[in-house]
Amino acid sequence: MKLDAKALRYLTSEDFRVLQGVEAGSRNHEVVPTPLISQLSGLRGGSGVHRSISNLAKTNLIAKVKNAKYDGYRLTYGGLDYLALNAHQKQKVVYSVGNQIGVGKESDIVVVAHSSGSQRILKIHRLGRISFRTVKTNRDYLRHRNTGSWMYMSRLAAMKEFAFMKALRENGFAVPEPIAQNRHTIVMELIDAFPLRQISRVPHPEALYSELMDTILELARFGLIHGDFNEFNILIKEIADPSEKGKAAADADTEESEENIRLEPVIIDFPQMVSIDHVNAEMYFDRDVNCIKRYFQRKFHFVSDVPGPFFSDAKKNFLRNPGKRLDVEVEASGFSRKMARELETYMKEVGADGDAGAARDDLDDDDDEEDDDEDEEDEGDSEEEDTHQEPEVGSSSTEVGESAQRLE
Ligand code: ADP
Ligand code: MG
Repeated sequence: MKLDAKALRYLTSEDFRVLQGVEAGSRNHEVVPTPLISQLSGLRGGSGVHRSISNLAKTNLIAKVKNAKYDGYRLTYGGLDYLALNAHQKQKVVYSVGNQIGVGKESDIVVVAHSSGSQRILKIHRLGRISFRTVKTNRDYLRHRNTGSWMYMSRLAAMKEFAFMKALRENGFAVPEPIAQNRHTIVMELIDAFPLRQISRVPHPEALYSELMDTILELARFGLIHGDFNEFNILIKEIADPSEKGKAAADADTEESEENIRLEPVIIDFPQMVSIDHVNAEMYFDRDVNCIKRYFQRKFHFVSDVPGPFFSDAKKNFLRNPGKRLDVEVEASGFSRKMARELETYMKEVGADGDAGAARDDLDDDDDEEDDDEDEEDEGDSEEEDTHQEPEVGSSSTEVGESAQRLE
């Protein structure tokens, strides 16, 4: 599912009200009956509403569903994207839409721009998009899903990610600045960096390794476990070292010139974050630690001679020297425990296992290049059809260039 912002400029305000009507109706109806759409859009019935319905259906923002009992429409992911983009545009968060730089299993990543020209990242959550790995177990479940559940769950994922990103940022963690959240989308700062996955040489792997382990422990001190801490979700900023030693190394222009580059990790991707009190906290903690251990061993041939860190150390550290409890803070901010449970259950059911699944499956693979993993399944639902790809890609070189779609 690609974000396609083209039609946005041509939609009238009536079209938008009708689209909003379909959205509102979807909360209680899998297929929203046409008379209800008229009513919810707040427009007086008649040809205007019907014209809008037909415009929206033509651009695949809603889809006609013939039902045994009645005919009606349902909102598509495209329609939901438009509603969210329109809201971001009204709030002056997004001015134009540029290139899509990432297609994950559960999200799309798009470069957008503010009216000042500064670039930002729009992350569109797409829970319920099927992963080929879980097709068999989930086919039945997904057949019975209703529009409300994928919409609601994708919104929960966006709310959760935004709430955690905000709490982490406010407490000094290196994460992108969260800017706005609407429906199933968030807008955040664009980090000019590549994922660790794409970094082929690290001059001092031991330093980066221990910084990442410290981050895992520091998160635990604040009551949190990332839950998907791996080479796709760690962006590595390369910062020039302005010190004399750094300059000398740069001037020498030798192997040593790498010495003047400092690597600064920035952590992303938070929908799977859990509290240190979670029943499976230890498993998530160990998984995060082991992901990094294995990756460093395989890619940089680095094995630490310090064992751990272990969950028991993290827990002791947390109890003895607690930072603010961000798990509790996030709950208080409106992303409730009940929502967290609902999202977790759904993510398990649809096999949403973040990048960790890809990283784990990929461990025996000696080839460090991106794999062309083309296995896929569609949902039997053409406009939501999608290909599975590994999470991409170096974003830093992507410009909001000629292909940018102005929204107004
Ligand atoms: P997913 O849940 O699909 O894994 P991520 O949030 O991990 O989504 O983003 C997928 C990819 O998009 C990342 O690996 C990274 O390359 C890129 N990306 C995501 N957020 C940003 C950002 N704020 N700045 C730069 N690149 C980003
Ligand atoms: Mg990711």
